[in-house]
Amino acid sequence: MSTLLERLKERNEKVIMNTYARYPLGVSRGKGTRLYDLEGREYVDLLAGIAVNALGYSHPEITQAIREQADKLIHVSNLFYQEEQTALAETLLTTCDNGQVFFCNSGAEANEGAIKLARRYQHRILNKSAFEVITFSGSFHGRTLATLTATGQDKIKDGFDPLPAGFKIIPWGDLEVLQSAIGDNTAAILTEVIQGEGGINIMSQEYALAMERICREKGILLIIDEIQTGLGRTGRFWGFQNYGLKPDIFTSAKALAAGLPMGAIVATPEVAKAFGPGSHATTFGGGPLVSAAARAFLKVLIRDNLSERAAVLGQIAKEIFLATKERFPEKISDVRGLGLLIGIELTFPGKDVWKALLDKGFIINLTQDKILRLLPPLIIEEQDLMNFAAALEEVLQN
Ligand SMILES: *Cc1c(COP(=O)(O)O)cnc(C)c1O
Repeated sequence: MSTLLERLKERNEKVIMNTYARYPLGVSRGKGTRLYDLEGREYVDLLAGIAVNALGYSHPEITQAIREQADKLIHVSNLFYQEEQTALAETLLTTCDNGQVFFCNSGAEANEGAIKLARRYQHRILNKSAFEVITFSGSFHGRTLATLTATGQDKIKDGFDPLPAGFKIIPWGDLEVLQSAIGDNTAAILTEVIQGEGGINIMSQEYALAMERICREKGILLIIDEIQTGLGRTGRFWGFQNYGLKPDIFTSAKALAAGLPMGAIVATPEVAKAFGPGSHATTFGGGPLVSAAARAFLKVLIRDNLSERAAVLGQIAKEIFLATKERFPEKISDVRGLGLLIGIELTFPGKDVWKALLDKGFIINLTQDKILRLLPPLIIEEQDLMNFAAALEEVLQN
């Protein structure tokens, strides 16, 4: 470890709460798909701030939009109307069939609000007492009390009880279990279409459509968590569009404002009616500065057809990694993903592989102990993915 990093680490650990298992890496700046450490060493970033930096770093159109908006208006209360938030919602709604948006500041806040909206819709619009939200094992929905309760991973709940009531977690991918889990109290199903943190678990087409049909039949709301899968990453604008689903509510965050904090709840007009003045709010949500950044991001995403790029490159990446798997069948058990959300599952705990790749200048994530997770910027080059595969093969050789 470099002396610069050692010194920064020591200062950081004195004053910052110890909640992150950090990489042995200090970052000083980024440009395009590259990050630079404290000494100026270059890294290929195949993690993109966990699916946040979809356009990489210091993208000229994003920085220009932020600069210009900062000169005009950074924050104004949601008690007032403003152009940036309105125009952003208009553009966002051109990407889906849903009707209205609520802007907030993070993924957890978006899911928390979606859960509130589903309950209020059951109570105030349908006049039902249904309140329970069904979610799946292996899911990840956030770190607030309600969203960590919704999350299907025990380690995330450790030490935080009592947890809020009204959640039921069921196994992933079993329709019979889903059917029998539903009761008079069921208000909504909340799920990702591809579990990201959970290890790139892809919902089957058959399950997705059956789940939607059950929701329609029983008056249950379908909420899709698009926080990781949304905004072009899976090769369609939204992950659920790969399946032809029509969620009542979906949530977005991560890449939405190209690196500034922003989340969104998107709902059908019918469901959105359940919120009225005073029922839900957040001070910073959809402020002019983040909204301007998000508008600039959506403009580039749509204009440059980056979801299509993610689909094509994702296919190429999968073929490259499958070839690696062929050469190391005893070390790689699976390669899976959709678009540029890719998992390479090892047959053994991957910490040493992850670290060796970092030493070779490639930043990726290790999830569920054995799965190398890649969420590169949507502007990543094919050559970078090939170089990564070559580095991975070198590491696996040893
Ligand atoms: C990251 C993530 C969240 C939580 O988002 P935060 O902005 O960290 O609160 C929720 N759901 C999914 C699927 C995520 O990937």
